[in-house]
Amino acid sequence: MTTSPPGGDRQQDLIALAEKKMLRNYRQQPVVFTRGEGVHLWDARGDRYLDMTAGISVCSLGHSHPALTRVIAEQAARVLHTSNLYYNEQQIRAAAAIVDRSFADRVYFGNSGAEANEAALKLARRYAHVVRGEPERNLVVATLDSFHGRTFATMSVTGQEKYRTGFGPLLEPVQLVPFGDLAAAEKALAPGKACAFLVEPIQAEGGIVVPPPGYLAGLREVCDRTGTLLIFDEVQTGVGRTGKLFGHQWEGVTPDVMTLAKALGGGVPIGAMACTEEAARGLNYVEGDAVPHASTFGGNALACAAAVCVLDTIDAEGLLDRCQAVGEHLGRKLDELAAAHPDQCTGARGRGLLRGLVLASPAAPVVTECRARGVLLSVAGGRVVRFAPPLIARTEHIDEAIAVLDAVLRERAGRK
Ligand code: PLP
Repeated sequence: MTTSPPGGDRQQDLIALAEKKMLRNYRQQPVVFTRGEGVHLWDARGDRYLDMTAGISVCSLGHSHPALTRVIAEQAARVLHTSNLYYNEQQIRAAAAIVDRSFADRVYFGNSGAEANEAALKLARRYAHVVRGEPERNLVVATLDSFHGRTFATMSVTGQEKYRTGFGPLLEPVQLVPFGDLAAAEKALAPGKACAFLVEPIQAEGGIVVPPPGYLAGLREVCDRTGTLLIFDEVQTGVGRTGKLFGHQWEGVTPDVMTLAKALGGGVPIGAMACTEEAARGLNYVEGDAVPHASTFGGNALACAAAVCVLDTIDAEGLLDRCQAVGEHLGRKLDELAAAHPDQCTGARGRGLLRGLVLASPAAPVVTECRARGVLLSVAGGRVVRFAPPLIARTEHIDEAIAVLDAVLRERAGRK
């Protein structure tokens, strides 16, 4: 970190104003970022930070990537938004870019991860009604400790009670089963009962939990046997985060529906639901009826131009290979860190550049101390220090962050 310039403290003034004027949105740390470049951010005092969070798995190309900056500026100068009352070229190109790179035949665009999941759940319910003619097949099965968003439906299928408290009644019926437990999934998916099984290929907010090998393939088989739509929430694992474009590609299985957001726009808000031709029948439009699902902003020209640029840049810069190589380095370093601090750490886990150091106590104080030393990390699942750096990060950036985390853990050990 550099030292703060003398004079007034604009950062403190801004935070004081925020405390008066804003509702809470996450637990905000006392810092205001005003500029970013590559893997670094600068706060309003001019202090520099190494970003190992990337806006929670969003800024995969890093900050102010020249290609993305240029595309956004050019698109803004041409046209920002025209409405889904009309087609727009960027949306069509973004849909084709996702279809060309995935199992999917069709794409719907919203503005966030929650909206993408909301669309997937609406598709599943309506598929049971209008395609199967089984309106009683309305159960959504999801997993304990999952995170799918903060809207009513997505909160209802999020397997963490703390996010649901005080909001009832929620969407019903929903059944939550342990993540990674195929037998429990099979039991919940009795034939004719469930319209969808919704699951993250790696539980991210739940603590970077990788399921046992074969779990996703097993779910595919059970869903096929019971006529249930399989939905993979790739909002955090998608668009390269795990070293493949989509997290499920590690398991060699495909879902009926996949949801994307976060990294897709590289920082410009966008959500997408991609699905097979068959699953798309769930949201089919009948001439003369209301369109079953739609959005004012979803897939607007700016967001979709950004998405196309992100996908093209991942290809052009070989970021999947880089993510795998740098991710393996990070995994080794985290294993070493866990071994070096056995009193404070119980292990390390994850894939690609989505990894966590599992602590024996809450991770928040450790994340706070790392920030004070100029490294941005985040908490997942309460006790996990999450690394989700931009995919452009190099091993020396990882080493720098690990050295700071190591120093923080050593200092804490010394204080005991
Ligand atoms: N799904 C997963 C797996 C997520 O990690 C998140 C956000 O962290 C969401 C959905 C919700 O996304 P958003 O905050 O864009 O609504």
